[in-house]
This record gives sequence, structure tokens and C-alpha cells, in this order.
Amino acid sequence: MGRLADKIAIITGGAAGIGLATARAFIAEGARVLLVDVQAAPLAAAVAELGDAHARACVADVSDPVQVETYVAAALEHYGRIDIFFNNAGIEGVVSPLVDYPLEMFDRVMAVNVRGVWLGMKSVIPAMAKTGGGSIIITSSLGGLRGVPRMSAYIAAKHAVVGIMRAAALECAPLNIRVNTINPSPIATRMIAAIEEGYAPGVTARAKARFAAGVPLRRYGEPEEVAKLVVYLASDESSYSTGGTFTIDGGMSAA
Ligand code: NAD
Repeated sequence: MGRLADKIAIITGGAAGIGLATARAFIAEGARVLLVDVQAAPLAAAVAELGDAHARACVADVSDPVQVETYVAAALEHYGRIDIFFNNAGIEGVVSPLVDYPLEMFDRVMAVNVRGVWLGMKSVIPAMAKTGGGSIIITSSLGGLRGVPRMSAYIAAKHAVVGIMRAAALECAPLNIRVNTINPSPIATRMIAAIEEGYAPGVTARAKARFAAGVPLRRYGEPEEVAKLVVYLASDESSYSTGGTFTIDGGMSAA
């Protein structure tokens, strides 16, 4: 029996990176998943890999309230319930000093990373409550607990979702819904490569070496390592954990 046997999970940002690694781990533990992503082609490829007995896809932009309703309805239509919500989709924005940061990009980062997370909560919580509760895991970042220069919109957004998690954990405890954040950094996905490029255009190897040197474990984390933490928080093994921030950062937050 897997640790998530017969559980139904929604994973936003499920076509790539941490979301896709978590989909693989959830399925290995017996869950079935609805993957949500704005990118149709990688999403279709992910479901083809995972197999449609275990995975379904819904193309949606998490910042759009109508599309959020659509993905929640798709999960209920295919599977009839929602036990786990990995509220994970996010974008990095650009690397720029705050005083030069483009307003439109600030608004877009907030729309995806904060409004998208909040809209997902708003639609999923009532459905989850109807079937007796569940577990919600929001992807924040180490940048949700401390600052990083030249990423002000992203840092603001990742702090904001810690606030959403704390408010929701208190509201949802009577519904038997646990709510936690994971706070990773740095993890080897497309996103960190884009951030390297933002800090050191054309010489990303230098940025990568500098970032890795700042990690006590001296390396980036792998999405599969993050997925193991998400499985724990999704499963009954974490039954007394709600309202928590779970760092997975090679020791960075200890400094
Ligand atoms: P990624 O870019 O590989 O994956 C993000 C996925 O989210 C992509 O498939 C993308 O298409 C999807 N997405 C983006 N905007 C969307 C939208 N509006 N609607 C639906 N889907 C959308 O990056 P990742 O590293 O796997 O990022 C996953 C989460 O982890 C993000 O919230 C990110 O901020 C967070 N995170 C990443 C790191 C890291 O170092 N990689 C560190 C801390 C936190």
C-alpha cells in the first residue's frame, strides 16, 4: 500500500520541474493526479509519460478565476473528490533592481504567484471539505522567509503566500484540512537557470557556481528531493503539521 493510496491530487505547474517530479512521486505512492499548467504541449507530454490511468491534464492559467474553477471542476468530474492540493505554479519575473523593476512584471508575478495561489485555495477548500478534509501544500521559497536582492516582486509574492498559508491553516483546521508551505532553494529546474541568466547574462556557469557556493551542502537540490517532502506533507505521516513553513534548502536558512 502506497502512502497516498487512493488519494486524488491536483498539482498546479504540473508540466515541469518540481510539479512534474511530485506527480511522479505521488503516483508511485498510489495517488491519481490532475496536472494543471498553462503550457499545453509539455502538459500533454507529462500525461503521456505518466499514463492516463494515473494522470489527467487541464490547461489553465492559475491567475484567471474562471480557469481556476475549470480545473477544480475537471478534478471533480474525473475523480469525484480532491484530497491533496499542491498549489505550486509560479514564475520568477525578472532580475532587476527594485527602482527599475517593470510595473507590468510586478503585476504579473503577483497575479500568478499570489492571486493564483489564493484563487486555488478559494475553489479547492470547499470541495475538499465536502469529502472530509485533506492536505494543501503551497510552494513558497526560501525567498518567502528572507530577502534576495533584485528579485523584489518574487520575494514579495513568496512572503505573501506564507501569509495566505497561515490564515488558511487557522480557517481550515476545523475542516480537517491541513495547510503548509514548502520553502525550497535553489532547485535544479528551468526556473533557477532563468534566474542565473538574469544575474549573469551569458555566463550562467559563474552564477551557478556562486549560488552553489552559498549553499552549506554546496549543491543545488533536485526536484525529486523536494517531491519527497511534498509526499510527506500530503500523506497522513504529517497529520499533526499545519501552519508550517518547511525549508528544503541545503542548509541556507541556518546562516
Ligand atoms: P518551472 O518553471 O520548471 O515550473 C513551473 C511550472 O509552472 C511550469 O510548467 C509553468 O508552465 C507553470 N506555470 C507558470 N505560470 C503558470 C500559470 N499562470 N498557470 C499555470 N501554470 C503556470 O519551475 P519550478 O522550479 O518547478 O517552480 C515550481 C515552483 O517552485 C514555483 O512556485 C517556484 O517559484 C518555486 N520555487 C522554485 C525554486 C527553484 O530554485 N527552482 C526555489 C524556490 C521555489
